[in-house]
Amino acid sequence: LSNRSETEIGIIGGGLAGLFSAIVLAKKGHQVALFEKKEYPFHRVCGEYISTEVSPLLEHLGLFPHQFKPSQISRVMISSSLGSTLKSPLAMGGFGISRYSLDQYWAHIAQELGVQLFTGISVENYQFEKDNFQLQLSGEKTFSVRTLIAAYGKRSKLDLLKNRSFTTKRSPYVGVKYHIRMPFPADLIALHNFPGGYCGLSAIEDGKLNLCYLAGREGLRAAGNIEQFEHRVLQQNPYLKEVWEKAEFLFEKPEVINEISFAPRSPVEDHALMVGDTAGLITPLCGNGMAIAIHSAWLAANLSSKHLKGELNREALEQQYAREWGKRFSTRLMAGRNLQKLFGERFTTDLAIRLFGAMPVLTRKLISLTHGKTLDPCASI
Ligand SMILES: Cc1cc2nc3c(=O)[nH]c(=O)nc-3n(C[C@H](O)[C@H](O)[C@H](O)COP(=O)(O)OP(=O)(O)OC[C@H]3O[C@@H](n4cnc5c(N)ncnc54)[C@H](O)[C@@H]3O)c2cc1C
Repeated sequence: LSNRSETEIGIIGGGLAGLFSAIVLAKKGHQVALFEKKEYPFHRVCGEYISTEVSPLLEHLGLFPHQFKPSQISRVMISSSLGSTLKSPLAMGGFGISRYSLDQYWAHIAQELGVQLFTGISVENYQFEKDNFQLQLSGEKTFSVRTLIAAYGKRSKLDLLKNRSFTTKRSPYVGVKYHIRMPFPADLIALHNFPGGYCGLSAIEDGKLNLCYLAGREGLRAAGNIEQFEHRVLQQNPYLKEVWEKAEFLFEKPEVINEISFAPRSPVEDHALMVGDTAGLITPLCGNGMAIAIHSAWLAANLSSKHLKGELNREALEQQYAREWGKRFSTRLMAGRNLQKLFGERFTTDLAIRLFGAMPVLTRKLISLTHGKTLDPCASI
């Protein structure tokens, strides 16, 4: 990376949304530069369950991670901290793979396709001037690009610099993740509630399980530390107590993130197309943030390619992306926010689980509300 460089497309962030955009654009023959502040491979807080709505698209592009033998998940079980349970088949289902493996795999593919992948480099700011974006990078470097895709995830200092509205309020949520080993059905995802939050448990590759929970910041602070919180609060749920008694925990310490905001955001900001969590984060209990990240990246990459080929001017690019993003994801994100209100409350959750347990058709309908339709790789955008 020289002090001043330029290319056609810049992508900020190398999570699934950024890597997927980069791969699609490179396959379409564009010159792509992707900036990721960390070095692969690394762990992320994520439940690592990917909805199969994106499987045909991944197969079509040769990106399905077959060699890792992901688990295939087709059933859900939800429990309350009082011990009530609800079980349902998942019409769409999903597969389980660690982000440690998947992100590194796609980063490797992106590089093989000629993407300039700059790791360990953070984008400090960007400005739109004279129909180009000027990126300011860590290490006093700059980079100029014609089109910019922002895929920097849930929250970044760029959100504060751009005064995005959701940054004005502190978010009450903290996310914690482990990989563990214990006997558990590979085709099941469990969602165990506890006071103030919920914890997902499902199989990934190599016989390992992902255990990931979303908790209230205040509850955690009141407990003093994560260990005490897990002991005093999570383990009020008998299923989670059993996990802590039986499982082998594979990390030395958990992965933790805070400031997880589910507030609505804009899909276009200062002429950049926002993809994945940067455009909006669905509540994790829906288990499809990654599918939405991939789907929105597919949309942004296809429209950006049309723009670079002169088929769409910038105004049409931004308008079409914002319109399509709203059509495809707004209702799902809202359904996720509303559904989350039923989770993590001791008595309300217990009542909801018992009610829905008695109405399997309604339960399946509710699950389908948060899930999209299978994405057709050949449908025109
Ligand atoms: C507790 C929890 C559980 C979840 N469980 C699931 C689940 O089971 N299934 C599911 O589908 N979804 C789940 N999600 C959601 C899912 O993790 C996200 O939707 C998904 O990771 C979004 O991908 P992304 O590429 O948009 O962002 P990310 O994966 O967060 O990637 C963003 C990348 O940008 C980089 N970056 C940030 N700022 C900069 C910068 N300035 N310059 C350069 N790089 C930068 C970061 O280092 C990061 O690598 C969960 C979320 C939470 C919080």
